[in-house]
Amino acid sequence: MGATVYMADLRTTHKHNLFAKIERLLEAMGLENGVESGFLTAIKLHFGEEGNASFIRPIFVRPVVEAVRKLEGRPFVTDTNTLYVGSRSDAPSHLETAMRHGFNFPVLGAPVLIADGLKGRSVRSVAVGLKHFQEVKIAAEICSADAMIVLTHFKGHELTGFGGALKNLGMGCAGREGKLAQHSNISPKVVRKRCVGCGHCLEWCPAGAIHIDAESGRAVIDNQVCVGCGECIVVCPQKAVNIRWNESVPVFQEKMMEYAYGACRGKRERCFFINFVLQVSPACDCYGHNDMPVVADLGILAATDPVALDQACCDLVVAAPGMPGSVLGDRLAPGVDKFAAVYPEIEWRSQLAYAEEIGLGSREYQLEKL
Ligand code: SF4
Ligand code: SF4
Repeated sequence: MGATVYMADLRTTHKHNLFAKIERLLEAMGLENGVESGFLTAIKLHFGEEGNASFIRPIFVRPVVEAVRKLEGRPFVTDTNTLYVGSRSDAPSHLETAMRHGFNFPVLGAPVLIADGLKGRSVRSVAVGLKHFQEVKIAAEICSADAMIVLTHFKGHELTGFGGALKNLGMGCAGREGKLAQHSNISPKVVRKRCVGCGHCLEWCPAGAIHIDAESGRAVIDNQVCVGCGECIVVCPQKAVNIRWNESVPVFQEKMMEYAYGACRGKRERCFFINFVLQVSPACDCYGHNDMPVVADLGILAATDPVALDQACCDLVVAAPGMPGSVLGDRLAPGVDKFAAVYPEIEWRSQLAYAEEIGLGSREYQLEKL
C-alpha cells in the first residue's frame, strides 16, 4: 500500500499557476491536521551558499506562509548554520546571505531566523536510542517549533547520491556538533602551516581539548578530550582547523537518517514535506556554484512521509531523459540511474532503506497527480 505522494506538474493556466498548485499540495497533505491556531510553524529551507543559484525561489515560499497564516499558525522561515566556514557559518552572515538571495520579509511574508542561534550553539539533545546515536543534537528552534514544513530543492548530492527531504531534515536540522558527528568520527585537525598560535580556539573550546605546543607554537587538539562541538572550525581566524571528512558513506547515510528521525521527534504527525524537482543540479546547494541540471524540471511533489516522497522523486529523475550537455555525458536514456551515473561509488538507495528500517516512513507509495 504505502504512502500517498502528491504531484503537481508544471503545466499552468492563469487560474492554476504554480502558487495555486503549491496551495493545493498543502491542502492534499492535510496541513490543517498539523497546524493549529497559535502554532509556531517552522518552514525549513536551505538558503543556498553565496554563488549558488539553484536553491528554491523565495516567491515559492509565500503560499506556504499564507497557508499557515490562514490556519492562524505563526510561521517562521529557518535554517541552521553550516559546519564549515562559508557564507552561512554564523547567524549574521547566514541572514545576510539569505537576504541577498531574496529570503526576506517583503518576499516571504514571514520572519527569517537561524534555528541554532548566533554561533550555532543553540542545540538540544533529543533521545533516539538508535544504532549510531543514543541522542542527537538538533537546533533548538526546530525542537521548539510546534509544527514544521520542510521545503527542499531536490538534487544530486556528492555524499549521498541525491539530496532530498531526508537530508534537509537530518543534516539541515542538526546543530554544528551534530553535523560534525555525522561527517566524522574523530576530532577536527589543525593545519600546522596555517596556524599562527594565536590561542583564540583555546578560549572557545568547551572541553579544554586544545593546547599550544611549546616547541612549534602551534595549536594541537587532543582527540581523547575533544567532544566534537565543531567550535574551533569556525572561530579560527586563519581557517586553520579542518573537518576530517572520514566517515564512510554507508555509515554517514545511516547517521543522517538517525538525525532526521530526531529532527521530527515529538511532532512527527505535524511535519509536512514538499520537494521542488526543479533545476536538478548534480550537487548540493552548499557549493558556491551550481552545474547545469541533469534532467528537465519535473514538478513539485509533497507528502507527509519523507521516505516515500524522496523515493518518488528519485524514481522520477531516473525515469526522465537526461539533459544533453550536462555532466551525464552520453548517459541520457530514460531509465538511466542519474545519481549512480554521476556518483558511481555511492549507493543512494541505502539512506532510503535505513530510513524505512528505523520507522521514518515507507519506500512504497502511490503517486497522485493533482
Ligand atoms: S585559532 Fe587558529 S590560528 Fe589561532 S591557535 Fe587556534 S588553530 Fe591556530
Ligand atoms: S571540536 Fe570542540 S571540543 Fe573539539 S577541539 Fe574543537 S572546540 Fe574543542
